[in-house]
Amino acid sequence: MNGLPVMDVAGRAGRVRAGFADAGIDALLVTRLPNVRYLTGFTGSAAMVALTVDGTLLVTDGRYAEQSRAQLAAAGVDARVVVGATHADQVQALAEFVAGSGRLGLEADGVTWAQQRDFTGRFAAHELVPTQDLVEGVRRVKEPAEVARIKAACAMADDALAEVLPTLADGPTEREFALALEFGMRRRGATKVSFDPIVAAGPNGALPHARPSERPIGRAELVVIDFGCIVDGYCSDMTRTVSVGDPGPEATRIWETVLASQQAGRAAVAPGVECAAVDGASRGVIDDAGYGEWFVHSTGHGVGLEIHEAPRVARTTTGTLAPGYVVTVEPGVYLPDVGGVRIEDTLVVTSDGAVALTEFPKQLVL
Ligand code: ZN
Ligand code: ZN
Repeated sequence: MNGLPVMDVAGRAGRVRAGFADAGIDALLVTRLPNVRYLTGFTGSAAMVALTVDGTLLVTDGRYAEQSRAQLAAAGVDARVVVGATHADQVQALAEFVAGSGRLGLEADGVTWAQQRDFTGRFAAHELVPTQDLVEGVRRVKEPAEVARIKAACAMADDALAEVLPTLADGPTEREFALALEFGMRRRGATKVSFDPIVAAGPNGALPHARPSERPIGRAELVVIDFGCIVDGYCSDMTRTVSVGDPGPEATRIWETVLASQQAGRAAVAPGVECAAVDGASRGVIDDAGYGEWFVHSTGHGVGLEIHEAPRVARTTTGTLAPGYVVTVEPGVYLPDVGGVRIEDTLVVTSDGAVALTEFPKQLVL
């Protein structure tokens, strides 16, 4: 994308290293691809990164020999690159690179059992230490240039919905409408969708994560539209619920309850606020209206290189919001015989509150 501000990719490894002491490690083996991308700018489908206290090594395979070097150079990342023909070659290069580091952290949430067994053999001279959230924790705070990418993705989604929404009156199937949305975002420059769009009308709307079906969208029924796209690696996420014509009093009451819940959650988003308190603000409105048992998911999640990332905004979450966090607020109510309502925005936490990056109007009846 042209016109996007330059990101400070090179500055990120230092922020991760700052967590080594607390994690009890001397080096970190990064195997989760979003974390590899975050630390190096490399976007390929196969690579691992070793961070020692003073160096960075990326290993990949022959398919990515040129791309890896070009992307690291473009990102201004000072790292060695080793292209290994085999997995054994690549791990051997990693082992040599971290030879002076006794305690090697693994990403416990990204390493399979088979990998753990493999690494135990290949890093026999090291103490392998499970770690969590070392890179993800740094990723929570988005740089302004990352927010700019998320905002660009949100704007494409807003524009695509504005273009496609009037066609609901023609009674497209859920699949047709989802495809039009996806096409609209990609035509505006999105790399791809951030997840398969959810377009769920009438009874399908009572399933929070329904897949678009061949069922034509009817009049006077609730239509949950949850979708987003990716710009330069960064995701957007938004949900609107609409109806072609008046959906009746109960559906309207649910929609108004969810809107009030979403506004309460949004109003709670600010630096220093517990994530659980944001969930509580949204959930309280739905509980008070008597629909609490039908709000079956958590209130929100972080958005960035991954569509769902830290922090979770849930009842059970510990942790507080800070400036630069990007989170969704997306309460919903799903009644088996009536349908579903979810309303979601993506917000960035500022120094004194939050700003919504998704700006599409909220209106029930088209
Ligand atoms: Zn969503
Ligand atoms: Zn979401």
